[in-house]
Amino acid sequence: MQCQFLILGAGIVGSAVAYELSRRGQSDIHVLDVDLEGELSSTERNAGGVRHLWQHPVNVELARHTIALFKRYKEEVGFREQGYLWLQKKDYAESGNALLERARRNRTEYHRLEVDEIRRRYPFLDKTEDLAFGIFGPRDGLINSNAAKVFFRKEAKAKGVRFHDFKWAQALKIESGRVQVLVESLGDRPTAQQRLKAPQTPGGTAESWISDKVVVALGAWAQQVTPLTELREVLEPVRRQISFFEAENFSFGNFGMVVDSSRVYFHPEGGKLLSGFVIPHEKPGYNFNYDSSFFEDHIWPALYERSTYFERLKQISGWAGMYNYTPDKSGVLGDVPGLPNVFEAHSFTGRGVMQSYGAALALGELILDGGFSTLDASVLHRNRLKAPNNWLVETLHI
Ligand SMILES: Cc1cc2nc3c(=O)[nH]c(=O)nc-3n(C[C@H](O)[C@H](O)[C@H](O)COP(=O)(O)OP(=O)(O)OC[C@H]3O[C@@H](n4cnc5c(N)ncnc54)[C@H](O)[C@@H]3O)c2cc1C
Repeated sequence: MQCQFLILGAGIVGSAVAYELSRRGQSDIHVLDVDLEGELSSTERNAGGVRHLWQHPVNVELARHTIALFKRYKEEVGFREQGYLWLQKKDYAESGNALLERARRNRTEYHRLEVDEIRRRYPFLDKTEDLAFGIFGPRDGLINSNAAKVFFRKEAKAKGVRFHDFKWAQALKIESGRVQVLVESLGDRPTAQQRLKAPQTPGGTAESWISDKVVVALGAWAQQVTPLTELREVLEPVRRQISFFEAENFSFGNFGMVVDSSRVYFHPEGGKLLSGFVIPHEKPGYNFNYDSSFFEDHIWPALYERSTYFERLKQISGWAGMYNYTPDKSGVLGDVPGLPNVFEAHSFTGRGVMQSYGAALALGELILDGGFSTLDASVLHRNRLKAPNNWLVETLHI
């Protein structure tokens, strides 16, 4: 098989890259995924929050471009501009003020909400004695990430992009100036999912795909493809969990994401509630098990402390998905050293949905124009990971 562009991975990032390359008039674009349905992909398992509040300008800009596109196609992608509210404890008021100052410098719209105002807008937040104030981002919101992925794919397909299912990318190398990708056909969904759960399983027979340019958009699995395996030293796949539940006698208004001072976050979802929390020091590895005690150990106690409405909660379900962590918790985007015409965009930790289109826009410019123009994403190149001085440390993870 030969083509001009080959994208490995059809999650929201790979699909956005296909959208962008085809939008810019390119043809002969193919996208491979081991499971196009994406049941174990992070795009399927996230919380759907999108926001502009980040420390580093490049992360803000990637989010800004993505959210602008989501707003433009809000019906298609299910974007709800319902804001993000960050609750700041009295003991941490100083860091809250620093955050507001950072937001102002990054030219993003965030306001300080006094506790009275929080209680007026969010009447169910009725245990506020420990709070100093809130930080509110009116331009942030919630997205249906699956709908956004489908939107990117649909637009790309309409322009001739082809998506191929059950294809496992094993290895990349350069052959006579073109990129050769060894691809194994896995045949069905159960086998594909087994491989995603145990990606270091030795591969079987592979066919060769030759392409002028290749984009690696494999999310938490990028470091499993040879020779990107060298990234295993710096990248870590880590499980993150989400609970889905209902609150008795509680009717929801149209509020967006609330990030409690405990770092438990929650938002309404189809008349119920969705909530997550990053367990510190979670063991790295491809683990998709949802702990039966997660809700009772982490979610409920924090919400109980915040609202009398959350004293009686009933868990409905929960799930787990993967973050890919870099040491500084910013994503990896750029060319791949030693592999001419191979590019990468992955490891966006907990913000790959809100950065998906921005990443595709930037990568599109790098691939087609030879450099960035709309937004300079050069600082996200993997080389920075070798020198802690160049890290783009983000601490606002939830
Ligand atoms: C619990 C949780 C909550 C989150 N909340 C948010 C949030 O609120 N907002 C936000 O912006 N982000 C959030 N994220 C992060 C976000 O979901 C991810 O950063 C984003 O989905 C990554 O997209 P991707 O396309 O890079 O990866 P994925 O969606 O994981 O796609 C990668 C694709 O590659 C395929 N693949 C893997 N290996 C191979 C191979 N060798 N060959 C072929 N195909 C392969 C997989 O099947 C998959 O479809 C959250 C993540 C989790 C887990």
